[in-house]
Amino acid sequence: MRKMIAAGNWKMNTTLEEGKLLIKNILDGLMENPPRQQAGELEVIFGVPYITLPMASTMVKENPQVHIAAQNCYNKEKGAYTGEISVDMIKSTGAEYVIIGHSERREYFNENADMLAQKVDLTLSRELIPIFCCGEKLEIREAGNHFDVVKQQIEGSLFHLDADAMKKVVIAYEPIWAIGTGVTASPGQAQEMHAHIRRLLVNKFGKELADDISILYGGSVNAKNANELFLQPDVDGGLVGGASLKADDFITIINSF
Ligand code: PEP
Repeated sequence: MRKMIAAGNWKMNTTLEEGKLLIKNILDGLMENPPRQQAGELEVIFGVPYITLPMASTMVKENPQVHIAAQNCYNKEKGAYTGEISVDMIKSTGAEYVIIGHSERREYFNENADMLAQKVDLTLSRELIPIFCCGEKLEIREAGNHFDVVKQQIEGSLFHLDADAMKKVVIAYEPIWAIGTGVTASPGQAQEMHAHIRRLLVNKFGKELADDISILYGGSVNAKNANELFLQPDVDGGLVGGASLKADDFITIINSF
């Protein structure tokens, strides 16, 4: 069954103490305002900095609806890669998800389709769930090439998977022009691209599998626009940056399904 997901991406924000307080405030808020949907129907994910992973995993243990994600992993298993983090390290913290291919990683760290495919494979090999990000730059959209670019990103890093592996993947469509800009894709623009992504999945893996995959929208989701976006038939939730750092806003987003 396709899950609804509200995932936060904290990026390079929060010290340990700040992270602890933010998680506590969100968990307390969810006790007061529990989502209408059960665990299994709706999942909440905190994409926290590496140093926060063990503490965050411990803090959310009692709430079956809340899970922890790393924001990246390295594309090698282990070894002389100073400063990098492996999927085994992430797994050992209790985290369950890994965000892969965020546009900031693609842009500032030159991550390409092959590296991302390796990260997806490593993540799945440790029974971690990849949240695979894709999305176009503004000039690509203005030139009318956004559907092709997203197709290439998905084919290039996911379409080597077999159906068993693919059905575990979560996809996040994040148009780069909407990330951190306050400019959100309209619900129509989001729906159109999500339907395109689902069609690609149908063509490659069949309708049953495609219908089960959660496709999240990311790009300036906030407490006001989340509901309208999540109402779209192919928008199964959000990957949320800035607004996931404010407990009240993130709780409102979680309760927008
Ligand atoms: C993101 O970091 O993935 C993101 C979508 O950020 P924001 O919500 O701040 O645009």
